[in-house]
Formats: sequence, C-alpha cells, structure tokens
Amino acid sequence: MAAHQGFGHDPTGDVTPRSKRRPTVAHTEATVAVAADPEISQMSEAELIEGVNRLRVERDAIILAHNYQLPVIQDLADFVGDSLQLSQQAAQTDKPLIVFCGVHFMAETAAILSPDKTVLIPDLEAGCSLAASVTAEEVRQWRAEHPDGVVVSYVNTDADVKAESDYCCTSSNAIEVVQSVPADKEILFLPDMFLGLWAERVSGRKLNLWLGECHVHAGFRPEDVIRMLDEFPDADLLLHPECGCVSQCMYHIAEGDIPADRSHVLSTGGMVRYARETEAPVAIVGTETGMLHRLRKENQRTRFIPLREDAVCEYMKAITLPKLYRALRDGVYEVRVPEDTAARARAAIDRMLATVPG
Ligand code: SF4
Repeated sequence: MAAHQGFGHDPTGDVTPRSKRRPTVAHTEATVAVAADPEISQMSEAELIEGVNRLRVERDAIILAHNYQLPVIQDLADFVGDSLQLSQQAAQTDKPLIVFCGVHFMAETAAILSPDKTVLIPDLEAGCSLAASVTAEEVRQWRAEHPDGVVVSYVNTDADVKAESDYCCTSSNAIEVVQSVPADKEILFLPDMFLGLWAERVSGRKLNLWLGECHVHAGFRPEDVIRMLDEFPDADLLLHPECGCVSQCMYHIAEGDIPADRSHVLSTGGMVRYARETEAPVAIVGTETGMLHRLRKENQRTRFIPLREDAVCEYMKAITLPKLYRALRDGVYEVRVPEDTAARARAAIDRMLATVPG
C-alpha cells in the first residue's frame, strides 16, 4: 500500500490522516427557515406527517431515504436503501419529482442518473466529511503525479470528483472493481482510506490511498469491539468497511482474538441482507446508528445493538420532518449538476456498473 499524504502505519493497518475537513450544519439556511416559518413551527409531528402525505400526492413525488436517516423519515419514504440503490431507484421511477433524504453527494448522484427529473434535498447544506476530504483539483494533481494511474472513486464523492475518475465503486463492490483493473495498472483509490485498506487486504491489489475518512466511522476503535464482545460473547459482529477499526479487527480475527465465524464486514445493503437471513440472537452493529431502525424493522428476532451509541452523522440527521415538509411545499432545494460534469461522472458510474452489474 502506498499513501498519497503520508501516515503512520503499523501491522494492524492503523493509520492517521493528516487533514480533516468537516462542513458545519449547525445553522443551515433550512434550519433557520423552518424555525422562522409561522406555519411549520406550529405543526405537530402528526400534522407534518399528514402534510407530507398530502403533498407527495399533489406533487406526484417519490421520497427516497438513506439507511442512516431519522426513523420518522425512513418510515415516510417510498424506498429506503444505500446511496447507489437510491440513485438507481430515482432513475427507474416514473415520478417527475424526487425528494432525496440523504446527504448532498447522494442527491447529486440521483440527479446525474436522472437528468430528466427534478431532485430536491430538504437541506442543501447536508454535506459529508468523507466527500469533503477530496476536491476535483486535488484529483487532477494526484493524477498528474501518476499519469498512468487508474482513479477509482468511492461513491461518497462530489460530482466533480466523480467526473475526474475512471471508475466509481461502492462499499459492496469495491473489491470487484479494483480486481477488474488490469494488473499492470497503478490504482489511485479515493477518498476513504479505511475502505481502501480493507479492499487492498481482501483483493490482494496494491492501492495508492487517499487519506480521507468519515468522521463517524473513523471513530470506531478495536477497543469498542473487544468491550462489546466481552459484554455480549454470543453476538455476531457487523462492521462497515469505512470503520476505522476494520483493518485492526481483521488482524485480530486472523490472530484468533475475535471470532472469525461471527464477524462480517458488510455494506449497509449487506447488513440488510444479513438481517433478513440471520438466526443470531444478538448482533453488534458497527455503523451509523440510523441503520439500527432499518435492521430492527427487517428482523424482530435478533437483538441489534450499536457498537457505539454516539456514532451519529449530523449531516444525515440534518434532514428533519419539518424540512421534508418544506421541501415538498416550496420545492426546495433543487440539486443540479452541470451537464458536462454529469456526463463524465455518469461515465465513471457506468464503468462500475458494466464491471459489477448492480
Ligand atoms: S456517515 Fe460518514 S460517509 Fe456517511 S454521510 Fe455521514 S459523514 Fe458522510
């Protein structure tokens, strides 16, 4: 493994990023607007839900929600899934209006795949620390340093970064995508270093890694895993590959410190499939806590427990019921991607889908 920005590296794969960029959602325009809105600020939750259900019919809209959204948003959505599933759902629907309850890069991806539809996001400032860790200009510079390199971008990137990429990938197909790149080609993998480390370890391909991270998933530590397995010794362990502890946990699994047969590294879509099939009495879930609502709805037999209660993404939670109501009422905020950027980003997504059909 080679790293673009340099980092400490130990046998367990522990790495430390140099720079962290965190957009703020403390006082977004949408938050201020709903608080100051005389109609919305006086509506009860039941009235807001009734209003959303009325407006979605009047506007002929479909509501899509990511697995990390608040429970009330998930329950109102027509479809709940991971970012690529939602974008594919957006492309397939015959509804002209898509209200995307997720973060900005996801709504952009939906707009890229659905250029003939209107895509709204209830809070335009719902960003992502991982997507913010790399810019299009940085990708161009990185590529200039590695002119023969193949750029593989995780789907958690802005549209202009996808446009600079050869392939997109998701957490469920990253390994197949990197394995599909000819063996004599250097791979520049961005932006998530933990997903990259995991893909490198499983695929056996050497990767140049961009040192980005999701601040939520980077917060998981091997100590959290050991503590929870001590408390729940019969539990299965589910870890998202973005987690900061994945490489170290794989090392501990190989050493026999963590049970291999009950440990699973899964995308959010993989966790949903796991929930539908498992007979395990308890499962410890290492990802954003919104996932638990989805897993508990899928499976009432298994007890799903968060690996960390504080693994909460403030960007996902920036999408609230009052903002969803306002989005449908006022038609805000439309997400548009310039056509030339969209065309190049779509090519990277299409190359992924041609390699690993969704
Ligand atoms: S959980 Fe992490 S990767 Fe997902 S939207 Fe939040 S900051 Fe981005």
